[in-house]
Amino acid sequence: MQEKIKNLIVGCGFSGATLAYKIATELNEPVTIIDAKNHIGGNCYDYTDETGVCVHQYGTHIFHTNLKEVWDFISQFTKWNPYMHEVRGYIDGQEVPIPFNLNSIHQVFPKSIADKLEEKLISRFGFNVKVPILELRKVGDEDLTFLADYIYEKVFLHYTLKQWGMKPEELDPAVTGRVPVYISRDNRYFQDTYQGIPLNGYTPVIEKMLAHPLITVQLNTNFNQIKETVSYERLFYTGPIDEFFNYELGELPYRSLKFDFVTFDKPYFQSGSVINYPNNYTFTRIGEYKYFLDNRTDKTVVSFEYPQAFELGKNERYYPIVKEENQTLYNRYLEKANNLPNTYFLGRLGDYKYYDMDKAIARALALFEEIKGR
Ligand code: UDP
Repeated sequence: MQEKIKNLIVGCGFSGATLAYKIATELNEPVTIIDAKNHIGGNCYDYTDETGVCVHQYGTHIFHTNLKEVWDFISQFTKWNPYMHEVRGYIDGQEVPIPFNLNSIHQVFPKSIADKLEEKLISRFGFNVKVPILELRKVGDEDLTFLADYIYEKVFLHYTLKQWGMKPEELDPAVTGRVPVYISRDNRYFQDTYQGIPLNGYTPVIEKMLAHPLITVQLNTNFNQIKETVSYERLFYTGPIDEFFNYELGELPYRSLKFDFVTFDKPYFQSGSVINYPNNYTFTRIGEYKYFLDNRTDKTVVSFEYPQAFELGKNERYYPIVKEENQTLYNRYLEKANNLPNTYFLGRLGDYKYYDMDKAIARALALFEEIKGR
């Protein structure tokens, strides 16, 4: 006999957990949430290792949002370390602020040149303005073109070649637009109103979201293994949409990462939580995890981040590859999805969108509002 499930959610990341919580608490309906992995949290999973450092198993995650609704929602489950993220890039032998800003300009150029560039940038664009590198390269001015070419070469080109196996202009402009040149003295990576790291890590946040008597969590459970033996009234699928349809229109491309975790027998390894290496080595960046929660330990844990192609069955999906032809293929899958009754796709993999954590939560909250009356 088939097991009958009211709400089946595939995937225990932020998207799935948000929906599970809303359905259980507001609709008072039972939810079964499954994940193929042996832990909850999806790629936001973290844990405190034997050295006492809270490590993000799938790379550094920093929560940031301008969406008060999302901040209020997630703040029900955690207190915060009010951490403001800063990244530096190792460029021409120095660690300079990324996004590249006025401080970066003064660090890498002699004063006379830096002053001139600063003045030109401000009179052209204004102060406290963000300009994507691909836009800055289009400006006709000789000095600003010199600057744009420098930043393109030293910050974006080689990092992007490593990260995506493509040049910046081959990707959707929104990808490099995530890290625009910033005409400002603000060294932070994000300017969002709300930023921080959950005080006990991300995993306990998801744990709390799922700790409801109407929510059943099943780990080590692949949807494909159980789909013949269960039936459900509603299905929320946060896994890859192409996998759901057995790749019948072809595979949606993804980029993957490999993390080389190393513990050093000293209190600190580098000057901050994330240092980018656009032009050296084959890794893109080094993350040092103790900075996020200010863990005071004798040792330190870092990860060297190596981008690689996603290969089915060999590694994990991390990033959808945002470019037009992939969006076209996704749209064809979406058309099929829209024909299925009571079946909804969401999350980075379900929507094939480069969501940050807050946007994944916002999407799940919006989807809940859409379905709650049905
Ligand atoms: N990027 C770059 N150099 C940098 C930082 C970012 O070229 O030092 C580009 C690169 O293409 C990257 C994109 O900007 O994939 C977005 O960067 P972000 O830090 O937002 O990526 P994520 O943290 O999501 O991997």
